Amino acid sequence: PHYLMWFRRDLRVHDNTALAAICERANEDNARVSAIFFLTPKQWQAHDTSLVQVDHIARTLPILAKALQEQLNINLIVQVCPSFSDCNEALLDICSANHISAIMANHEYEGNEIDRDEQLTEQLGKSDIEFVRWHDQCILPPQTITTNDGDSMYQVFTPFYKKWRHTLEVSEIQMHEAPAVSDNNNVTLEPTENAAKTVAEIESLSTRALEDYQEQLQSDDSYQHLDMSAQLEHARDAYPAGETAACQRLEDFITEDINNYDVSRDVPSLHATSQLSAYLTIGAISPRLCYLQANKAQEKLHGNDSDNNDINRWISELAWRDFYRHVLDYKPELIRHQAYKHETDTKINWSYNTDDFNKWCKGMTGVPLVDAAMRCLNATGFMHNRLRMVTAMFLTKDLLIDWRWGERYFMQQLIDGDFASNNGGWQWSASTGTDSAPYFRIMNPFSQAKTHDTKGEFIKTWLPELKDIPATILHSEEKMRKALSKKGDFADTGYPVPMVEHKAARLLTIAEFKKEG
Ligand code: FAD
Repeated sequence: PHYLMWFRRDLRVHDNTALAAICERANEDNARVSAIFFLTPKQWQAHDTSLVQVDHIARTLPILAKALQEQLNINLIVQVCPSFSDCNEALLDICSANHISAIMANHEYEGNEIDRDEQLTEQLGKSDIEFVRWHDQCILPPQTITTNDGDSMYQVFTPFYKKWRHTLEVSEIQMHEAPAVSDNNNVTLEPTENAAKTVAEIESLSTRALEDYQEQLQSDDSYQHLDMSAQLEHARDAYPAGETAACQRLEDFITEDINNYDVSRDVPSLHATSQLSAYLTIGAISPRLCYLQANKAQEKLHGNDSDNNDINRWISELAWRDFYRHVLDYKPELIRHQAYKHETDTKINWSYNTDDFNKWCKGMTGVPLVDAAMRCLNATGFMHNRLRMVTAMFLTKDLLIDWRWGERYFMQQLIDGDFASNNGGWQWSASTGTDSAPYFRIMNPFSQAKTHDTKGEFIKTWLPELKDIPATILHSEEKMRKALSKKGDFADTGYPVPMVEHKAARLLTIAEFKKEG
């Protein structure tokens, strides 16, 4: 027999559930194993996948190919197939040309991905070829954590988290390490167009696909104001590719920064969070490994005392990731741009003012913390969690712009862009989601700056034109207006005055949410 491992968002050898299963089964059945990954440029654009994320995938593939060969005797083929339906066609051809009897993969939970898999199951229906999938993306997969009556999804994070934690305490989770397949597994898939077979070929095909995608994006309005090459350069420095780099980052974080996480995680200038999201999103690190390492550190430091502390706080962030995947699985219509709270779709009169939106995108709103965060995102492909909340609230509450515009823009820029977490974060900020921020609790971006960027370090890093303005001014809308006015001390900075008055905007938004639907 000949089995095919289909890599998707699980670009690693360690603790990869489908990979471990296929290798175990191949050894039992004395079967050969091949592996495939599809580069899907049309699908990326349809999903607003950012250039930096595609670059991260492209950089990871040759590393994965090498690791598969060296550790498991498996050859990886990388093939360009513009859309998901092309992938399915290619798989059917490959299966028949290579006498494949089973395709194995890990589950994906988004709409087009589910449709693609269902379509493939149907297409394979009449053949003898199996298509088997495993849950791998979460620590505890969707539908594992249900309410006590057993069949519903928790609408609120805290009880979800309690049960999630309890489940992990009582049932040990397993890591799935793949055994190498026999030395005779020297197969390469035939015939494949637009495909790369050696590590060097994979590197050059992935680079070419990235360049083509960059060209494709250049004609899109959302990218006109960006220096894409600079963004790529920064992301490459900040995120060395591959699972070894990811695991090293986890280890460093667990030995150092996690010990101050609870306090430091909200201060953007400290870079005190793990920065693992880019790796988790493409599956270059296992979320179970993250949990187990953190849990081990927790036990070592605190024994059975699991009271609130830094490590617990970090574990709860990993749980948010699982929570939003549970939510997406429970409400698949979220992928079709619907609000979790349906009534907000008809009630709220969202704004679609492109001038306002563009000011937000470019970091020219006149609100220093918002602008610094947006310019950081544009330059690096990453934004700190607290700032994601601040910028998302500013767009949806101060400008009353439809959260879907912001959600899309984030996906187009973020290296860690992930539908479930991004949609969850946006709907939380817009007060349209499950367990979201109450509509009347609107963050004041100036007070947020005062609390989380006390000396204005983050603001000044990204808004150099404000470097001489004292933090006390940056932290007050009134003082900023005065300082930037024609007669003010800093009128010549070229920096705009705040585009809205926060207090007034807040009242209008609250009224909008309060009105009868
Ligand atoms: P750490 O603080 O080290 O946390 C560890 C891991 O836990 C993260 O890598 C991430 O996988 C998970 N995590 C942490 N916070 C959250 C959260 N609130 N929701 C879900 N998972 C979380 N995260 C993404 O991975 N992709 C996105 O596209 C994304 N979009 C967001 C949009 C908005 C508006 C908001 C408010 C949040 C979004 N987040 C997203 C969540 C969070 O901001 C990032 O996961 C976090 O900033 C990544 O940095 P880190 O790896 O250093 O996180």
